[in-house]
Amino acid sequence: MSAVKRLVQYFAVPDNPELVQAQALAFSQQVPLMYGILLVNSLALAATHTDAPDLLRLYIPALLALACAIRVVTWWRSQGKPMSYARARRLLASTVWVAAGLGVSFSAWALSLYPYGGPFQQSHVAFYMGITSIGCVYCLMHLRGAATMVALCVVIPFTAFFTTSGNWVFLALAINLLLVMAALMTVLLNNYRDFSALVASRAEMEHKQAETQRLSDENYRLANIDALTGLPNRRSFDRHLQAILDSVDGEHRQIAVARLDLDNFKSVNDIFGQITGDRVLAEVANRINMLRQTSTFVARLGSNSFALILSGATDEAALQASGDVLTAAMRPSFELKLGTVHLSASAGFAASRPGDTAETLFDRADYVTWVAKREARGHALVFSERHADELSRVRRMEHALHTADLDREIHILFQPQFDIALNRTTGYEVLARWRSPVLGEVSPSEFIPLAERTGMISKITQTVLRKALAVSARLPKSLRLSVNLSAHDLSSTTAMEAIARLVEQAGKPCRIDFEITETAVMRDMAQANEGLLSLLALGSRIALDDFGTGHSSLTHVQKLPLDRIKVDRSFVAEVTDDPTSRAIIKTTVDLCRNLGISCVFEGIETEQQLDALLGLGGTVMQGYLFGRPMSEDKVFEHIAGENKGWQQHRRQIFGAAG
Ligand code: C2E
Ligand code: CA
Ligand code: CA
Repeated sequence: MSAVKRLVQYFAVPDNPELVQAQALAFSQQVPLMYGILLVNSLALAATHTDAPDLLRLYIPALLALACAIRVVTWWRSQGKPMSYARARRLLASTVWVAAGLGVSFSAWALSLYPYGGPFQQSHVAFYMGITSIGCVYCLMHLRGAATMVALCVVIPFTAFFTTSGNWVFLALAINLLLVMAALMTVLLNNYRDFSALVASRAEMEHKQAETQRLSDENYRLANIDALTGLPNRRSFDRHLQAILDSVDGEHRQIAVARLDLDNFKSVNDIFGQITGDRVLAEVANRINMLRQTSTFVARLGSNSFALILSGATDEAALQASGDVLTAAMRPSFELKLGTVHLSASAGFAASRPGDTAETLFDRADYVTWVAKREARGHALVFSERHADELSRVRRMEHALHTADLDREIHILFQPQFDIALNRTTGYEVLARWRSPVLGEVSPSEFIPLAERTGMISKITQTVLRKALAVSARLPKSLRLSVNLSAHDLSSTTAMEAIARLVEQAGKPCRIDFEITETAVMRDMAQANEGLLSLLALGSRIALDDFGTGHSSLTHVQKLPLDRIKVDRSFVAEVTDDPTSRAIIKTTVDLCRNLGISCVFEGIETEQQLDALLGLGGTVMQGYLFGRPMSEDKVFEHIAGENKGWQQHRRQIFGAAG
């Protein structure tokens, strides 16, 4: 770098926003002091030079004082507050020139007074210039350029003037000032370097702090926001709910919590892929957001589940109305690139009660959502007294089931499956019963869904299977037993391996079949298939239970390794009066025939139903007409009596043809 360039750079305002702003801030605090020294000292000098003309004694100092006042006001406006980089730059740049201008002007004015005084006044001029310049340079210590400029503009004329004055005392004074000013400038430049370094390290620290803050904000966001929908997540919901409950508790105010679950969302992912599934979820979040009031808090709890905290009206009618609007908003189709998706959502609302915690309140909303999914799919339910009674029973049941000795408390019954073509019972469906020492006899329609919800079901399946295997060993070899599998069994590799192990340990030939439902296999088709194939390899047969009730899709029938389809009893119940049921049954019978699998009818209670089914081509029958679920002892009686009893019975109904 050339010397000129270095010189220019020395006096220029540095190209460093943090430093410039820090310099401006530091100097703004010294401005009144510096101009104060300058003006008071100048006033004193003017006062001691009584013989000087008015121009020098009054007018010039007044003019210079005015210039100083303008500068003081300019700086005053920014005193002590952070200013913009641009303004700080402007002020600092002008300060160098002002320093030069005032330095030269005051020096010239002071020296011009020299001829109008005696030795004391002349000494005063020298003293004034020396002491005032040291004071000003000291005040300018944060501005290297301006400080140097003042030093030069005073020391050069001072030295030139007094060394040529012919007076030894003044010559000594000039040398003194030169040396002191050089020392002062050295100290000042060192200070300036330290000051710049301090500002730089403070800026770096602030930068690091800002970066740490940004990372911590980002972490907080990631930990509390669901990335897909941008909604608060489960953790954020729990915290927010507890905070709101704490705040309303004292005010005797109520809030409400709602849970909204998309029904069969998994099939959207299965059919259209996860990207489309994600888009649907984002759109669902949009639809909820559009409907919510400003005070409503919306969160995404998990895959297909959302939750709301409502602070407005919480009476049952208001909540039901909100629920109806919310579930209705999910029904219009979702138009996406890959196709049109139709969805429904079930929702449960619960209002807060005094003393509620986030957990107890959410528990009620959660429960009523579960009820909605089972009883009012696609709609909303509000937690009522009925649900409160049920929930307390469910909780007692949960506890009893959790602590149950399954081997002792679970027993199994057998319901015959009668083959019309072979004219005999070919097997029995195994049905679980729970006799709890605390609750007494509990119906499977109550405890099976509960066990599925709490994850106990696999233990129950294995208990039932163990018991069924023991009974099958005592039954005549021509009879098979069919055991129900739950969705949880099918979706858990461990559970399916345990089941296969039990069947395998029982030895060959295998006489255990399994019943599965469509809803169960829908969860994960590939995984279900794999588990079923392993059972098939052991000699078990697989029946598709409750056919026609779920999301019957012929693809399931084709994709799964099925041996039979069990037509749900709702169709059988209507077979005598409803042409649609009859048509569905006929189609199903034909489908089974084409696929080479058998078709079982469930829930046959009357001879008219049996008659109608026989007319449609049904062969395997199950229902109260053929036998209610019975104990093992009764099974043996049933087998023994079957030939005599049933054949006589049939002969009476159908004559010799049966
Ligand atoms: P499911 O598998 O469809 O079993 C048939 C149900 O229909 C049985 O009820 C049976 O008693 C009943 N049923 C049979 N014939 C008739 C009839 O003619 N009329 C009427 N009205 N009902 C009839 P249950 O034993 O109460 O079982 C209910 C459900 O509980 C079963 O439906 C099944 O889904 C589940 N379940 C029972 N035992 C087990 C089990 O060991 N494991 C699993 N995962 N689920 C089971
Ligand atoms: Ca079944
Ligand atoms: Ca069934």
